Formats: sequence, C-alpha cells, structure tokens
Amino acid sequence: MEMLSNIDTIKGVGEKTTKLLNKLGVYTIEDILLFFPRTYLVYPEPSIPDKDMVNSLVSISGRIKTSPKSFRSRNRMDILSITAFVGDIPVDLVWFNSNYIKSSLEPGKIYIFYGRLTFDKGRFKMSQPSIFEPEKYLEIKKRIQPIYPLTKGLGNTTILKAVKEALNHCCIPDNRLPEYLEQKNGFMSYSDAIRTYHFPDSFDSLVSARKRLAYEEMFFFILNSRLQEDTAVSFPNEFNIIHHKETDDFRASLKFALTNDQSKVLNDITSDLTGEYISQRLIQGDVGSGKTIVAFLAMLDVALSGYQAAIMAPTEVLAKQHYETFVNWVKESGLDIPVALFTGSMKVSEKKAMQKLVDENQSCLIIGTHALISEGRSFGDLALVITDEQHRFGVQQRDRLSSKGNHPHIVVMSATPIPRTLAMILYGNMHVSAIKELPANRLPIKTCVIKESMRSTAYKFVSDEIAKGHQVYIICPLVEASETTEAQNVTDYSKKLKEHFKDAYEIGVLHGKMKPAEKNQVMADFAEHKTQILVSTTVVEVGVNVPNATVIMIENANRFGLAALHQLRGRVGRGDAQSYCILMNSSSDNNQSKRLNIMLKSNDGFYIAREDLKLRGPGDMFGVRQSGEFSFKVADIYQDADELEMASNDVDQILKEDPALENNPDLRSTLNLFLANQFYVL
Ligand code: ADP
Ligand code: MG
Repeated sequence: MEMLSNIDTIKGVGEKTTKLLNKLGVYTIEDILLFFPRTYLVYPEPSIPDKDMVNSLVSISGRIKTSPKSFRSRNRMDILSITAFVGDIPVDLVWFNSNYIKSSLEPGKIYIFYGRLTFDKGRFKMSQPSIFEPEKYLEIKKRIQPIYPLTKGLGNTTILKAVKEALNHCCIPDNRLPEYLEQKNGFMSYSDAIRTYHFPDSFDSLVSARKRLAYEEMFFFILNSRLQEDTAVSFPNEFNIIHHKETDDFRASLKFALTNDQSKVLNDITSDLTGEYISQRLIQGDVGSGKTIVAFLAMLDVALSGYQAAIMAPTEVLAKQHYETFVNWVKESGLDIPVALFTGSMKVSEKKAMQKLVDENQSCLIIGTHALISEGRSFGDLALVITDEQHRFGVQQRDRLSSKGNHPHIVVMSATPIPRTLAMILYGNMHVSAIKELPANRLPIKTCVIKESMRSTAYKFVSDEIAKGHQVYIICPLVEASETTEAQNVTDYSKKLKEHFKDAYEIGVLHGKMKPAEKNQVMADFAEHKTQILVSTTVVEVGVNVPNATVIMIENANRFGLAALHQLRGRVGRGDAQSYCILMNSSSDNNQSKRLNIMLKSNDGFYIAREDLKLRGPGDMFGVRQSGEFSFKVADIYQDADELEMASNDVDQILKEDPALENNPDLRSTLNLFLANQFYVL
C-alpha cells in the first residue's frame, strides 16, 4: 500500500466507510495518516460517585444485580436501563437504541462503566456509558487513546482501526527534510512522528512528535513563500497605474470618512501600485475595520488606469456579498466600469456571460471564489490581485491566481491577529500594513456569558431587539444531531426556536452542507431583512456583513476557540446601533468559564489571542485549537512560535546557499508534494 493509494485499499474499509471518510476530507492513505486525533483520552481510575464529580467524565466499578430492563419510549426509542451498585451507592444507567448491550451484561458481575455522571432527584445517573470487563479496563487504562474528529455514522473505533491498518501496511518515508536538519534539530523521524501522533506512549513523546510535524509544515510553507516572493519582488513594475481624481471624488461622496488607518493603508497600496517594482502587501485589519472599501478604492484606481483588478474571497456567500457591494459603489460613483463575478455555483451560461464581459473590457473589476483560478478562466491585463481572508486559502491558490496575470501586484487581507514579527516570518518579503482602529461610529459590542437557566431571558432579549427592527444571528456548532455529543445543531434548533417564538419570526437556516445556491439565497434573504433570525453554523464566521444585525447568540460557546468567537462576534457591531453578543456556556468546567470571560474584557483580537494562549499554557496543546488559522494541519502559529522561528532561520540558511533550490532536487520534489497536498479550506 502506497501513501497515495485510495483508502479503500485498507482492509476493513468498505464502500460505506470510504464515503464517510471522504466526507471528512480523507481520500488517500496519506490523508488518513495525516488525519490526526482531535484530542486524547486517558481512562481514569474507577472512582466512588460523589456530588463533586457531577457533570464530569468518570468511570465507576459497579455490580449489577439483575438483567437490564428494556422498554420503548413515547417517541419510539428503545431504552435499556439498569442500576449498578458501587459498594452500596446505586447509579442508574441508561442506553438508547442499544438493545444489543443486553446480552453482554450478566447479573451478579462487576463491570466498569465510563461516562458523564449526573445527579437527578437524589440519584446518580449515567447516560450511554461505555462498558468494560474489569481486566480489559486495566489494559486500556494504561494507553493514551486517540479521539478523532467524527461524522455521523462513523465512529471512533472504525477510524482507529483504519489508521492502525494504514500504519502497519503503508511504507511511510522515514524523513522528508535534509538529513542535517533532522540531526541539528534533534527530531524523531517523520514516520515515528506520525505513528506517535496517533498512538503516543506518553505525553512527552506526543509533544516531540507534534513539534516535529509542526516544524515541517511551517518549514515547507515558509520555503514556498520565500521562493515565490523572491521571484515576484524583483519584477519591474511595467503597469502604468496612476492615482485618479475620480477615486478621490467617489471617496468624498461616501456616507462615511475613512479612518486614519484606512487612509494610511490605502496610501501604502497606492505607492506600491505606482512604485518601481511589483509589490506584495499584507493588510491586517481586525474584523469590522473596513478592509473592503480600501480594496475597492485601490481596485478603482487600477481600473481607471486601464487594467483589470481581481479580488478572491474564500466562500460563495462572501464573494456574492462583495459583488453586490461593488456593483452598488460603482453605480454611486457614476463611473462606467464593468464588474464581473465568478463562483462555482453559477450556471455555465452565466459564467460565459461574465467571461465575455471580462474579454471585452480592457478595464474591469473581477470578484470571485476559487472559481477564479479554475482552468479555462482567463483575464486581460490583470494588474492587481487581492485575496480576502487570506488565511482561509492554501498557499497555492494565491499563487495560481497571480499566475493568471503577468505578475500582478498582490495584496492579501486578513483579520487574523498575527504579531508583526510572526507576519514577517510567515510572509517573507511581503510588506505589512495594519488597520488598528475601528470606524468612529462603532459602539463597543456588549458581551455576556450565560448558562442554560437564563435561556428564556436571552430569548426575551432577542425578541426585544427584533421589535426594534434589528436582526439576530444564532450560532450552533453542529449541522445535524450527532451520536457523540449533545451540542446544539441548526436543524433541530431552528425547529425548537420556531415553536418557542410561535412562528412570529421568519427564521433562516444556514450550514456548510447546503448547496452554494441555497446558501446564497438564505444569506440574501437575511441581508434584505426577509428573515429576522439566522440560525447558522460557523459558515457566517468569515466576512459576512449585515449591519442591521445587532445580536449574535452563540450556543455551546465553550466548544469554540476564542479566535473563532472573536470572528463570530465581529458579525455584529457593524453599524451605529448598540450590538450584543450572548455566549451560552454549556460546560460546568471552571476553566471554560475563565476562558470565555476573556471575551468580556476586550473587543481586541490581538489581546484575545494572547490571553487565550496564556490561559491554555504551552502544555495544553490539544485543548482548543484556534480555528481558521491558515491551512496548517498540525501547526499553530502561536503555540509553535519557537518552531516557526527555527523553520524560518533554517529556510533562510538554505536559500542563502542555494536561492532557487537547484542543488537540492530532493527538497524541491518534497516541496512539490507538500504543495500538491495543500487543500482549499472552508
Ligand atoms: P472587514 O474589515 O471586517 O472586512 P468591512 O469591510 O466588511 O469590514 O466593513 C464593515 C462595515 O463598516 C461595512 O458596512 C462598511 O461599509 C463599514 N465601514 C467601512 N469603513 C468605514 C468608516 N470609515 N466609517 C464607517 N463605516 C465604515
Ligand atoms: Mg471582510
């Protein structure tokens, strides 16, 4: 079995499992080897039930005296129940739709039950506990168990078995980095690191494995960006772009004045465009800082100078939104500049019409998703390429878009708060500008963390805001009910919400599994105020702009990284009305409330990222991964800042001696492999 063989070559992986794994983005043996655990489980020593343990995951050693009782509930669920005795403390156990368990429980015997302990009406309870024979439990307790990201219908055991098979039968290369680097940095081999990441002997070895893989990922990322940028930077700027009075006139006609930072960044871009060399610039601006208008004004100068300018967004919803904004702005400006849109879900005839527009107009504005870089798409004289929400794209996508033109200027925009030094390392020769201040009309978003008991108060608040003519986002972690967690899902939630509000409001539902055209429709309805509430997964996280929405309520907020919560919160507070963010904490863990409380202290993305890191500490690397942070599988630029610096220095050293990697053919081919594996992240 080879790294690039299909996963169905794994013994025991049939058609059904293949389909489910595909859903998780796993297609090849390499994919499954790099499909790392979400977290790890160490089974605890069995304990005596105590009220202090309520709501935690525990194991108990309990004797059962009778056979389990089975019955059918009113909603036609098969329920199995039994009481286990830990000494003389009774614990009521129940399982749903799991009648097959019945035969594995023998009256009189002791079993170990593992699950979440609850306490209700004076009795301890456990719902859906796992069952172990005591000897088996002793065995399993010694090992660190990997827990994988799951999808409905695909359990942890199935993935675990498939990973084991792949590890045993696939020939994983020992090393992919030049040997002296492996030695200098004291790394374990690539194959050992992968093995250890899945099945660590100890947490120490897990840390080493992770560091090695994180280093490698960042090494290739940096190597690639340095190689790209060195070539781009030295190109003379042959575009004749000038700053136009019409751009200033339009800017003056806007309903708002640009902030100082916006003007400064726009000046930076303008001097790039009119400079001696082709430029590359990273614009960092926190959510809501107004990056879109800056992009538009820069693109306007380019179009007025007789060239094309393109902006690429990571989602259809966002591309569509930019398109509508741009069409509006062009109309308001009274200028005659065509605007084209390309997204994956457009009909062939629509795409053809847009392509015609691009072909027939020397100067125009082009907007799109990664459909912009698809085969067959061609542009005229493309002088400026902007990528919005840069961290959502793989390295390659950006490069492919610029390769559509003849070395255009490049601007990348990101809301990810990265300290300047890290940004310089990650983006090499790229210049960095920041928009730090928010527009003056913004009131700070008021944030609160609440518990389940306050749900009705929260809903009352939601109705009050709707009564004022405002709109509301509600975010749930899941699309549909899951067997493995009790977190809220948009499908059931929206139904419950309709009942709660007695159909008084129009409620939209949005999630990543919908077809792009459906998503666009739901977003359009919300933007046009046809719906008052939008129940959504984190797909609204990136860039969506509906200034009339003033409340965002986030269910199971404890399950999200703070960076993601900050992005989500940025969906409100985009107009001049007071906005609110309600974080529903469904965990009773004290650390989770501490973490969520950071959100109360600040609206500043930099501050939040730093505090989050402090609280997690360097040891807790699997607690909460910052979501949406570049497209790294393992690395996290904050946690692995040391490795990032090491990788950067090592890349510099290599390129100093061999600027185009001509004497390092092996490294070049590994880099190509690495790039081929970069995927588009949504
Ligand atoms: P982001 O930086 O998150 O992409 P957007 O570009 O979507 O932010 O801007 C958010 C909102 O703020 C938009 O409605 C935009 O029109 C508005 N906006 C941008 N700049 C200003 C400004 N200087 N003053 C007031 N509102 C502004
Ligand atoms: Mg944006």
